[in-house]
Amino acid sequence: MRRWLLGILIVALLAALAFFTLAPGMLERSMNKVDGKPLPTISAHAKALHQTLTIVDLHSDSLLWSRDFLDRAGRGHMDLPRLEDGHVALQVLASTTKSPKGQNYDANGGDTDNITALVIAQLQPVRTWNSLLERSLWHAEKLHRAVAASNGQLRAVAASADIDALLAARAGKAVPVGAMLSIEGLHGIGDDVGKLDKLYAAGFRMAGLTHFFDNDLAGSMHGLKKGGLTPLGRQVVQAMEAKGMIVDLAHCSKACVADILQIARRPVVSSHGGVQATCRVNRNLDDAQIRGLAATGGLIGIGYWDAAVCDTSPASIARAMKHVKDLVGIGHVALGSDYDGATTVRFDTSQLVQVTQALIDAGFSDDEIRAAMGGNAIRVLKAGLVPQTPPPGALSDPEDVPHSALSEPGKTP
Ligand SMILES: [Zn+2]
Repeated sequence: MRRWLLGILIVALLAALAFFTLAPGMLERSMNKVDGKPLPTISAHAKALHQTLTIVDLHSDSLLWSRDFLDRAGRGHMDLPRLEDGHVALQVLASTTKSPKGQNYDANGGDTDNITALVIAQLQPVRTWNSLLERSLWHAEKLHRAVAASNGQLRAVAASADIDALLAARAGKAVPVGAMLSIEGLHGIGDDVGKLDKLYAAGFRMAGLTHFFDNDLAGSMHGLKKGGLTPLGRQVVQAMEAKGMIVDLAHCSKACVADILQIARRPVVSSHGGVQATCRVNRNLDDAQIRGLAATGGLIGIGYWDAAVCDTSPASIARAMKHVKDLVGIGHVALGSDYDGATTVRFDTSQLVQVTQALIDAGFSDDEIRAAMGGNAIRVLKAGLVPQTPPPGALSDPEDVPHSALSEPGKTP
């Protein structure tokens, strides 16, 4: 071989090696930021109370990124050691599979995708390169591998009994930490409801119908048409409820939210977002939607990033949570961080005591804080994970049976 050709080959190989080693970390560092602005001091009361809480966060995208969840990373917002520092009992980990180029909150088509490049740069298995379903199955595999390698410190949660066992094993300690899988947009199943079974079998127990673009099931709040549930979407909601999968309203269009609230028979959640009353961003819930969601017995998970609460301060998070409490009661308030979801936040999960402090400062009682930080989520997840066979014919005309038939949520868990 000529010397110059060998030289070019070596340079190309080194460049490829550097790219595949460094690019994923650099990309994550640029997308999942902590803004570094000052944080309030934590009182002795907040510290002590925080250690007694059962904390549940309804949404994080950590599985999207290429790093070992068991190791403390110098980037992003979450890993097992930081969840332990933050005293988190149960983390819902989402699978995000497709994100349009130029993604924005107003209007996106589904023709392009940024995640494909990420998947290749991260050297994920080839089967995940052009299959959205395989991307989710890979995320599940990543979690299950981490659980297996964690020496009992990380546990997968996929049933109501798993939650009981998790809480019994913790008994006030920082470990084990539970993790439950969810899906951010069910476009991975295409138009095949049967593929929901594959996701269920892999451990997914919560799902939003759409993410940033309209799909075969429903319109997205950020899609082009922003329509409601399609007949297939209706079928999927009913199939999810029957299986014991929790329906997530996050990212659904207004029409989609209205349609789901009309046919829901089990508590639904908005896993991550904010409220219009404190932050007028299109994806945030208005008061009528909050009331409708609360009527199902469900949860509103408040996020920590600027588009959810219009600021990154802990006080803004508490303000949104207080609005939900004042409007529909403490029983519907929850955490929905959107950590590692291409968000910029003020603090990572290791400093979650900041939310406890902010809730104290906003006038929440200790019992209200206990409910908001996770007690409510434990109630809804435990109930929602139990499979339920609907009575014969009950689903033929969903509009006949409103969700008011559902049981009242407990005030304090
Ligand atoms: Zn999201």
